[in-house]
Amino acid sequence: MIGRRATAAGVDRFAALVGPELLTARPDAVEDADGGEGSADGPANLWLPTAVGAVRPTLLVQPSMAASVLRDGGRYLIVGLARLKDFTAEMVAGNLSRSELPDGGSIQARALTVDFEARSGESDTNAVGHARALDHPDAIDRLARLLDGKVRDGETVLLPAVLGLDRPGVFQELAERLGAPVGEIPLVPPSVPGLRLEHRLDRLASAQRVRVVMGARVVDSRIERGRLVSVTSAAAGRPREHRADAFILAAGGFESGALTMDSYGQVTDTVLGLPLAGVSADGAENLRRLIHHDYWGAPQGLFRVGVAVDKQMRPLGADGEPVLAGVYAVGGVLAGAVRWSEKSGEGIALGSAEPPATPCWPSSATASPRAPATTARTQRRSRTDVRRRHPGSALGSAAAREGRSAGQEWRRRRRNGRPLAGPRQP
Ligand SMILES: Cc1cc2nc3c(=O)[nH]c(=O)nc-3n(C[C@H](O)[C@H](O)[C@H](O)COP(=O)(O)OP(=O)(O)OC[C@H]3O[C@@H](n4cnc5c(N)ncnc54)[C@H](O)[C@@H]3O)c2cc1C
Repeated sequence: MIGRRATAAGVDRFAALVGPELLTARPDAVEDADGGEGSADGPANLWLPTAVGAVRPTLLVQPSMAASVLRDGGRYLIVGLARLKDFTAEMVAGNLSRSELPDGGSIQARALTVDFEARSGESDTNAVGHARALDHPDAIDRLARLLDGKVRDGETVLLPAVLGLDRPGVFQELAERLGAPVGEIPLVPPSVPGLRLEHRLDRLASAQRVRVVMGARVVDSRIERGRLVSVTSAAAGRPREHRADAFILAAGGFESGALTMDSYGQVTDTVLGLPLAGVSADGAENLRRLIHHDYWGAPQGLFRVGVAVDKQMRPLGADGEPVLAGVYAVGGVLAGAVRWSEKSGEGIALGSAEPPATPCWPSSATASPRAPATTARTQRRSRTDVRRRHPGSALGSAAAREGRSAGQEWRRRRRNGRPLAGPRQP
């Protein structure tokens, strides 16, 4: 079990990592004297509107959505952008006005659609195109002029989440122009708020010299003396081997293809072939026990299947002992939860990525003390792996020990005529 404390710590760490301009910390989390949470129930969810006008529980919001949090008695102007087809203001306003808030109470919402031209001459521009346009002051000015005089006293203006991709303060600029609070409503993927977070995480990773290989599927692995020593990804041209001291399996579950069941009932971890908790070697029994035919009935037992781990997130075999050294499993691949019905998946992902008090992530497996290095999704090399291929990294480590930069170390060695190791290919 991941536990509430690890989940809360994982959530807070993530919020701190991306920073307050992108994610607002849990609004009512209180630390007690023991470092635990003050409230026995944990922090309360906020209620956010969705792109179809439903009401969704949400723990963390981007600052651009602070005004979108639905409050009893609130009055909202839902603004549609005519050239953005993923958002129908009339439907959102109608559904929100009809809904009762989960904590009780209701809101009033009305709709307005304006013809904002994100890209010149284009009649159908996607969310990212709108967001890129609104990174520029002249586009904010055009949108503000379309809304000028349309907002009634006491109304909060809610727009689809396209208020800037790279510039976080666009919603504030618009709010100042309109003299009313402005909030965003998240859209279907690719979500602009999600991309803002992804861009921030990419920048943080590259600042830590983590190499991210996008879109490469892990197709093979090599085990030596009970330890995973490398995985191989399918890359253009030829397979590519990635060696590391430690690997973090974060490949998700059935939805991502990390786990599969064939027509004979055999259930498999497609990445590393780890043993899975809750399955039998007898496929017929799996078909009988894990899948029922009542479509509208209880969640399928199959979706609880996954990798069992110990407290250090090491995958376990049927005997309860760690089964493969050098591997840690996190997120959707873990056994025991039906994530979409429990709405627990993101919490499990963040909580399981939070190292327990006893250090378990090997230091060589982390790009920084807080960031485990290697995932199955994006093969991020450990320092050891980087050293093998890029002599600059080895120089960096040697130099750091003596207080010099990698560049200084390189020049020092060249001056002293010391040989520099060339990159070694696998
Ligand atoms: C319909 C639906 C609704 C949900 N609703 C909620 C909700 O409301 N709240 C909630 O908290 N959770 C929800 N969840 C669960 C949540 O989405 C997952 O638990 C969460 O995404 C798991 O994150 P993850 O990073 O572990 O795995 P994923 O997000 O699945 O990411 C795994 C990644 O690994 C990659 N991968 C897989 N195999 C390989 C390979 N061999 N090589 C390289 N890469 C590989 C995949 O391409 C994928 O990018 C929902 C899930 C579904 C399907």
